[in-house]
Amino acid sequence: MILENIKHVEENINAACAKVGRDPAEVTLIAVSKTKPYTMIEEALKSGTLDYGENKVQEINDKYEILPKNIRWHMIGHLQRNKVKYLVGKTALIHSVDSVRLAEQIEKEYAKADEIANILIEVNMAEEESKFGITAKETEEIVREISQFPHIRIQGLMTIAPYTENPETNRGYFRNMKQLSVDISKKNIDNVNMSVLSMGMTGDYQVAIEEGATMVRVGTGIFGERNYNK
Ligand SMILES: *Cc1c(COP(=O)(O)O)cnc(C)c1O
Repeated sequence: MILENIKHVEENINAACAKVGRDPAEVTLIAVSKTKPYTMIEEALKSGTLDYGENKVQEINDKYEILPKNIRWHMIGHLQRNKVKYLVGKTALIHSVDSVRLAEQIEKEYAKADEIANILIEVNMAEEESKFGITAKETEEIVREISQFPHIRIQGLMTIAPYTENPETNRGYFRNMKQLSVDISKKNIDNVNMSVLSMGMTGDYQVAIEEGATMVRVGTGIFGERNYNK
């Protein structure tokens, strides 16, 4: 089932790219495996998918120990400062940097290990109360501040669009995100890359791709519904 689901998602990615004349090679599928057992990731690995998203530091650590070391782990959940040290050496990309204070902690821990942290800045495009992330207006200023940290490389932006039954309602947020990343890119800030745009989930990844996503984070569409009351 998992392999069929991945194939289906990949077909949808290709179709969305074809629709707007993009090369599917520009889009990375992140299989969001949070709450799911490592055996399901072992199954997914047979598809060749190597990018997996988790929202808990502990879960990344547990799965990192068990699973092949060529997996690229993406931290996509809210990150507490006291947990940063457990990500060093294990995480390909931290998608959820939402404050200079958090970046300070990342700088400190990665400097200690003499490593570079690849990060995205999380933007709360719809300004939903329930979500983390900075506002679009604050983004350039925060990118400039974080760009000063020598052990951090900003690779782009991430957003979590509102939950919706109709993906078209999120198109405007995705379009504004793309515009924000283009605007910041034009400023040519030292040490800042805007090549990654992480947006789109099971309900809306095709629309996100049409609007310029370079990473989509798909959980339910690959591994099925999550059960949080185990
Ligand atoms: C859980 C989660 C996803 C995946 O959501 P689905 O709707 O299951 O595809 C994507 N991004 C983030 C940040 C998440 O927390």
